[in-house]
Amino acid sequence: MSRVFVITGPSGVGKGTLIRQLLDRVPDLELSVSATTRTPRAGEQPGVDYHFLTDGEFDRRIDEGDFVEWAEYSGRRYGTLRSELDKRTGAGIPVVLEIEVQGARQVRDTLPDAVRIFIAPPSAEVLRNRLVGRGTDPEEEIERRLRVADEELAAQAEFAHVVENDRLEDAITELQQIVCTSLSA
Ligand code: 5GP
Repeated sequence: MSRVFVITGPSGVGKGTLIRQLLDRVPDLELSVSATTRTPRAGEQPGVDYHFLTDGEFDRRIDEGDFVEWAEYSGRRYGTLRSELDKRTGAGIPVVLEIEVQGARQVRDTLPDAVRIFIAPPSAEVLRNRLVGRGTDPEEEIERRLRVADEELAAQAEFAHVVENDRLEDAITELQQIVCTSLSA
């Protein structure tokens, strides 16, 4: 069974940027493409950024037991498809899940050997500035995400690895170290 890495943390903390760099530096590693019921943002491609599903399709996939985990986040549903994991772990390819905290908790029970890493912001204020600065979400959505972030930040003690994303270069180095140590164990 190949390694599964779960990378979680509040929206805006920089999970996506860190993971892109991690994938560049650890070429064997692949990212699982999640399913979601939210609508695509400008530039997002179906099957690449997400599998964009209708509510009905998402319900059907739940009923069929297709999800390793799924959660509701900011009024939309997000989930990891078993097929995305199996096609990689079956071929011995280590895989990264980029998911929110409720999903990461479920994975603790369903995939107990997964390496779970929490990405933390240096402060709540920095998180707000990043969410506003990236310009991908309307103000109302940012406020909703920041409310969820308070709860998510309180959960970081549940994770064996916490990487603070203050200076990007330091955070990526730390993340890479955690992943490479686990891959060579
Ligand atoms: P966004 O709408 O910004 O793409 O994602 C919102 C949140 O959902 C982020 O914290 C992201 O990590 C999380 N997310 C993305 N895919 C999944 C998934 O498959 N499962 C869960 N539980 N959360 C996910």
